[in-house]
Amino acid sequence: MLSLGIESTAHTFSCAVVEKKGRQGKILSDVRKIYRPPEGEGIHPREASRHHAENSSQVLSECLKEAHVTISDLDVISYAAGPGLGPCLRIGAVVARSLSSYYDIPIYPVNHALGHIELGKMLTGAKDPLVLLVSGGHTMILAFLSKKWRVFGETLDITLGQLLDQIGRYSGFASPCGPRIEELALKSTEYVSLPYVVKGNDVSFSGLLSATKRVIPKGIESACFSLQETAFSMIGEATERALSFTGKKELLVVGGVAANRRLSSILSSICARHNCKFFAAPKEYAGDCGSQISWIGLLESSKKPGIDLKDTFVKQSWRLDTVEVLY
Ligand code: AMP
Ligand code: MG
Repeated sequence: MLSLGIESTAHTFSCAVVEKKGRQGKILSDVRKIYRPPEGEGIHPREASRHHAENSSQVLSECLKEAHVTISDLDVISYAAGPGLGPCLRIGAVVARSLSSYYDIPIYPVNHALGHIELGKMLTGAKDPLVLLVSGGHTMILAFLSKKWRVFGETLDITLGQLLDQIGRYSGFASPCGPRIEELALKSTEYVSLPYVVKGNDVSFSGLLSATKRVIPKGIESACFSLQETAFSMIGEATERALSFTGKKELLVVGGVAANRRLSSILSSICARHNCKFFAAPKEYAGDCGSQISWIGLLESSKKPGIDLKDTFVKQSWRLDTVEVLY
């Protein structure tokens, strides 16, 4: 089975072809074009959607060429239907609908967060993990129970990715800022005290954002170091509590922030204490990409037919815990 997946929820427009054999998937191509806002600025939804529309045909044709397939070879077309930025979501949906209707290929709307998780599981071999999803759009601790991903903890305000990106943009860095903050943090070991807010099993980052801005003038390297130590310890504490509550023997971290080595080292030491295996999505597939969407299309197509074109949708705030998972 061959599937084309289209990702366009925020900054990335990506098309990927994935092949499924049994339970295993093979990524044949994954082509991405990323919208880069001007330095110091965040994503402008209309500008990002214009970027996606302008690049969609090139990304699609490169993706098919790299995979050595034509559109008529495809069995499934899937697109990220949410959550995400409305204007961006609509571009991916329009491309998917056009291909599906012209070539008569079954179409599947995909929840973006589910894509992060299931591709992470497939690529790492994790079977029944507690999942930490940390990205630009999500900060959630999740466990699978009775056909749904249940939320054990989440952010009460901004996400971990937004926290890092907002501090980076405030300092004039280009988005996405996580990698630059990680690099600067490595140059300091001077911890400046910052607000640490864990409420029950949820975290709140907005106070940490304001306080970090205030300490930047004293030195950007120690500010980045202290920011990472505080934010990652907060999410680590909530994750550890969820691990001991659920008794899961695997922890999987996915989403763009999963690429951070300091976060992985904190999480793997937590796992060592709980006799639990630690998995991180491979860096190349941690952030948003078409393979995540393509893989869910393949999993869904083994359980149900595609949906009618008239029923295809985009939903800006489509929560993962409302999605029934059939496979
Ligand atoms: P996603 O929404 O899954 O594509 O993830 C994007 C987010 O991941 C952005 O907020 C980035 O700043 C963040 N990110 C990417 N690489 C790193 C890194 N090495 N350390 C921390 N955050 C990162
Ligand atoms: Mg994402």
